[in-house]
Amino acid sequence: MKIAVYPGSFDPVTNGHLNIIERAARLFDEVIVCVMVNCEKKPLFTLEERKSLLKRVTAHLPNVKVDAHAGLLAEYAKEQQCCTIIKGLRAGSDFEKEFQMAMINRKLNPNLESLFLTAEHQYMYLSSSAVKEMGVYGADVSDFLPPEILVEFRERIRNIRNHKEA
Ligand code: ADP
Repeated sequence: MKIAVYPGSFDPVTNGHLNIIERAARLFDEVIVCVMVNCEKKPLFTLEERKSLLKRVTAHLPNVKVDAHAGLLAEYAKEQQCCTIIKGLRAGSDFEKEFQMAMINRKLNPNLESLFLTAEHQYMYLSSSAVKEMGVYGADVSDFLPPEILVEFRERIRNIRNHKEA
């Protein structure tokens, strides 16, 4: 069975992420979307919330599983008997960082391949942080987020704005 892991912060999952997940699900028997714990980032949604939002938006994809991991991706892949890491590439700026990560992951686990899927043109400039910033300034983000998570996103952003104003 060919298993791939798609790692990221997914804070929150965007239409750009979902597009990569749907395309990867056509290429592999199973895709594990893995929310990675990153101590440097202060997330908008907790780990459990991000997992639950991902589960909701991938409910139509029977071969997609959602998980979370706090350690090394290369170790996680080994545990899951998975030999491919999926990454989405938006622009040249993603490439530098991802190329380095791919080298490191292969060094840590020589059986691991990184597979890069290019972003769909309409999502090339889309990132979770850009969506959060747009949200905070009151922009309409409905073109960027799956409809199933819009209510939660707007509610969370509203709390942040109220907090700032208080
Ligand atoms: P971000 O916070 O930048 O949105 P994540 O850590 O959640 O990033 O991203 C996980 C993976 O998804 C990375 O491989 C990233 O390059 C990819 N990705 C993020 N946004 C998009 C997009 N709009 N189109 C394609 N791939 C994307």
